[in-house]
Order: sequence, then structure tokens, then C-alpha cells
Amino acid sequence: AIRIAARVTRIKPSPSSSASDRANALKREGKAIINLVVGEPDFATPPEICEAACAAIRNGETRYTQNNGTPALREAIAAKFLRENHLTVKPEDIIVTNGAKSAIFNALAATLEVGDEVLIPAPYWVSYPDMVLACDGRPVVITCQEEAGFRLTAEQLRASITSRCRWLILNSPSNPSGASYSRAELRALADVLLDYPHLAIMTDDIYEHLRYDDSPNVHLLEVEPRLADRTLVVNGVSKTYAMTGWRIGYATGPKVLITAMGTLQSQSTSNASSVSQAAALAALNSGTGFITHSREVYRQRRDDIAARLNAVPGLSCRVPEGAFYLYVNCGGLLGKTTAQGQVLKNDSEVVLWLLESAGVAVVAGAAYGLSPYFRLSIATDLATLQAGAAQIANAVSQLK
Ligand code: PLP
Repeated sequence: AIRIAARVTRIKPSPSSSASDRANALKREGKAIINLVVGEPDFATPPEICEAACAAIRNGETRYTQNNGTPALREAIAAKFLRENHLTVKPEDIIVTNGAKSAIFNALAATLEVGDEVLIPAPYWVSYPDMVLACDGRPVVITCQEEAGFRLTAEQLRASITSRCRWLILNSPSNPSGASYSRAELRALADVLLDYPHLAIMTDDIYEHLRYDDSPNVHLLEVEPRLADRTLVVNGVSKTYAMTGWRIGYATGPKVLITAMGTLQSQSTSNASSVSQAAALAALNSGTGFITHSREVYRQRRDDIAARLNAVPGLSCRVPEGAFYLYVNCGGLLGKTTAQGQVLKNDSEVVLWLLESAGVAVVAGAAYGLSPYFRLSIATDLATLQAGAAQIANAVSQLK
């Protein structure tokens, strides 16, 4: 028989896929399920981006590219970093990856030794701890409370750093909480980080354009350029341009790290798809029209659905600054009894009950390292979201 290695048996498949699988199984049984699990834009990729991909195919851009990405795309990414983040980056210090996910994975794989610690503020994107485990590291979760806006404080950071810490992963705006850091908050974190030169920082900026408070987008490295020699900046086109299926991410950072990530990539996946790279080039050069439009649509949904859920007794929902999720506090439902006589004990039970009784699929906060909450994606049309909110309200009203 085939034996599976510990690095795989210690990790689990993404909980959002399992939640979606459960919802789809019920759908196949004929139940009408509103799926609010999805973590991808409901918009189509803008047509001019798709057309650039078609043109690339017609032009014969169908071969291996440079391992770290086409020169044209890396130039465009360097221009993007300057334009949007005020960071001066050389194209040769950029790597184009198979989604942001593979940039994060390769960076961890390139740096972690057995038992090395990675600081992960919770609630976190589900993949961070599992990727760390897959790379033999030890995830160290720092719980960021709702009262603190789900943000990591400078004091918490300082108290969590040990000599075994290799990385801090900072995701702003955050999946799942939407929390986003202000210039002053980044300054406070940077002051701590300056005291610990052995710690590297990974900023996952994948939701940077999905911010709703109109304050300027500030990057940690803009606030503190002295962290540049140990910061990896990760980004991609998936969420900003509705391009999740194209699998284009990118990263920039210290040359030794980008080189190591390139070596790993060259011996595993090789370059990201040539056609997708052409599409990403068009996306980065496409201006801000699509971004502005989709942001307004998400903002409207966020405000509408947060208000509806906040009107449900037992639920409360902080209005997130960014990303396209609501992280709903369901602590007020714990201890209540369902029509079937079940006492709801934790958020995983609430989520299963919502699926069965409200016909709405969401993901339990337990998956993101902070309970009692559930994550509801607003990357679905407003009418469906409103129907989902109404069904949740109705189910909650029947709890005793
Ligand atoms: N980082 C965060 C916080 C995410 O939520 C996601 C996608 O869900 C990713 C990275 C992965 O993005 P990509 O599609 O570019 O791999």
C-alpha cells in the first residue's frame, strides 16, 4: 500500500471546500441551499483581460516562459508596486507564481526548518497554519479579539516573539475578518519588529483594493522601509480583477529569498501559465475602472447585509473595513435549543444547524482560529444575500 508522508497527514483539506461540498450534497438531494461559503468574486473577469489572453494564444505565447515570469509582466508588477504602494522594486526581484498561494507556500518551504515558529494572527486565512505544518514549521496563533477590531496589537506581537520565530504573517485587509491596519497601527507594529531582526515578515496584500473606508492604502514597507531586507510582499490578481481561476500571484522581497523561491518553483511547477501571465499583464495595465465598480458593489452589499444581520437577536456583526466577508458573532445563539431539541454548543454546531434549518451555507469560525463566529461571503448578488439573511433571521427566531 502507498504510505502518505507525515507532512501531508498532519494537514487537512480547506474547510471552505468541505463546507461547499456539504452544501452541494444537500443541493443534489433537492434542497435549495444558499451558498455563502465562496471566497471568490462573483464578477466575471473583465472582457479586455480575457481578450488579452486570447490574443496571447493567437500570437503563439504558448510556451514555457522564464521561470520567474515574463519580463513584461514583472515590469508591470514593478510599476504597480511604485504606483499603488510607493515601493521601488526591480523586476528581477519579483517572482510570478501560480497564485498568491504558491508564493506563500514556496516562501515557507524555502525558509522553515523543523520546529521553526510562524506567528499567525487569528482569525486567520485557513491555509496559513496548514502550509506552515506542511513545511515542518510550528504555527503560533495570536488571538486578535473583536474588541481590538480583530487586529494584532504591538503588545501582543512583542509578547509572542521567541528566538524560534521565523515569520510573522500579516494579512490586511484580512480574510476572514476584513480587519485592515492604519498607518499608526503599522507604525506601532514596525517599532516592535525593528527590535527583532531575526524575524521576517510576510505581508499578504491580496485584498488591498477591497477596502471601504476611503483612507489611503498604506503598506508596512512604506511606513518602515528599514524592514525591506526581511519582508516578503505577496499579492496577486485573483481578488482584485476577479481572476481566481487564472492562478497568477506574485511576490517581491530580499534577493536570496526570491532566488530560493525561484529554485523551488523551477523544480516543482515551473512558470505560471503563459496565457494567464498575458492576462495578468493586461489586468495590471487596465486602470481602476473595474476595481472602483466592484468595490462599490461589495460596499453596498456589506452595509446592507451587516445591517440585516445586526438586527437579528443573538447575532452581531462588525462592519469590516475590507475584503468580501462578514465575520458574524454568533455567541448569542449558544445555549439555545433548536426545533429538533438540540442545544447549540459552539459555532460548528451553529453552522451545521444553519445549513439544515435556514438552508444557508457559511463557514464556522473554528476554521479560522476564533470562535464563536461564522464567516459569510458577500461575493454573491444582493438579492441572494438578502434571501440568505432573511432565512437566517427566520431560523434564529425559532430557537428557544
Ligand atoms: N491570501 C488570502 C488571504 C486569501 O484569502 C486567498 C484566497 O482565498 C489567497 C491568499 C490565495 O490567492 P490566490 O488565488 O492568488 O492563490
